Amino acid sequence: MDLIQIDHLKTYFYQNKGVLSKLFGEGLKTVHAVDDVSLTIKKGRTFGLVGESGCGKSTLGQSIFRLVKAQSGEILFQGQDVLKMNPKTLMEFRQKAQLIFQDQYGCMNPRMTVGQIIAEPLLMKKNLMREKGKLEKSALFDEVIRLLQAVNLDPDSATKFPNEFSGGQARRIGVARAIALNPVFIMADEPTSGLDISTAATILNLMQDLQDEMDITYLWVSHNLNQVKYMSDDMAVMYLGKIVEMGKTKDIFSEMAHPYTKALISAVPQVSTNQQQETIFLEGEIPSPIHPPSGCRFRTRCPQVMKRCKTHEPPLTDLGGGHYCACHLHQNN
Ligand code: SF4
Repeated sequence: MDLIQIDHLKTYFYQNKGVLSKLFGEGLKTVHAVDDVSLTIKKGRTFGLVGESGCGKSTLGQSIFRLVKAQSGEILFQGQDVLKMNPKTLMEFRQKAQLIFQDQYGCMNPRMTVGQIIAEPLLMKKNLMREKGKLEKSALFDEVIRLLQAVNLDPDSATKFPNEFSGGQARRIGVARAIALNPVFIMADEPTSGLDISTAATILNLMQDLQDEMDITYLWVSHNLNQVKYMSDDMAVMYLGKIVEMGKTKDIFSEMAHPYTKALISAVPQVSTNQQQETIFLEGEIPSPIHPPSGCRFRTRCPQVMKRCKTHEPPLTDLGGGHYCACHLHQNN
């Protein structure tokens, strides 16, 4: 069953270089951060979104939450378009859908105790939904302790401040806060970034356990391919605002088709695949999303570029079994 269906989403930003550009008649510059993206996230599964930094994966996630403004397209959540939700429905959506950011310390008020930080969404929900009756202090405290224990933190943590915790513990606090309202969907944006491997592994296992217990659907945004392979059921590879390959994670790792996916995977030696290949070094920098290349956006770095790649944009085509690829090497005509 589909939980989220995104259709032809475009999220652009507009840059103005200031007074000089106005004086010399330069208009606004358009950053094509997410450019005509369609994908489906199935209920109870994990969808991995990968790509180099600046490819638009975080912007895509933020568009779902309306943290950035999408220009056009549709984001259906349980059948309702998030982009057209009124304030009340949006509020209800934001209880069912939660975020875990990579900078967990930056998300926590250093003057609040961890107990207050975790209790905050519970209190906000009560006020915003104008629920009747008082939320008893003891019931709130019990709920905070339950949430701390659910993420394997000591109940004493409730009275401490964020700076008293390690990076791994701070992520656990972020997870506890995210699950406080029993969400059905969580977007985790680089949730283990900066953690050592063993601490990261405990966070991954914790989130998998919570998914099993609470039937949560994840959007897992990461540049770490090993992690996406481990965590996700389905995945998409993004390049310069577009999806270039998408499908079941096991299919992409065993039968990767797009030259960009091959280069990304080849650069991670620990990732085992059915295709034996040497590391593919991509030349040049990712082009500016203000002036993306014509035709295929990857053509300026693609080792297999052809003449038509400059003039024709390759459509995302089903190679079979829901494995999609946008590359002229895999088009029939
Ligand atoms: Fe490379 Fe052309 Fe395929 Fe783009 S369409 S990935 S440039 S071969």
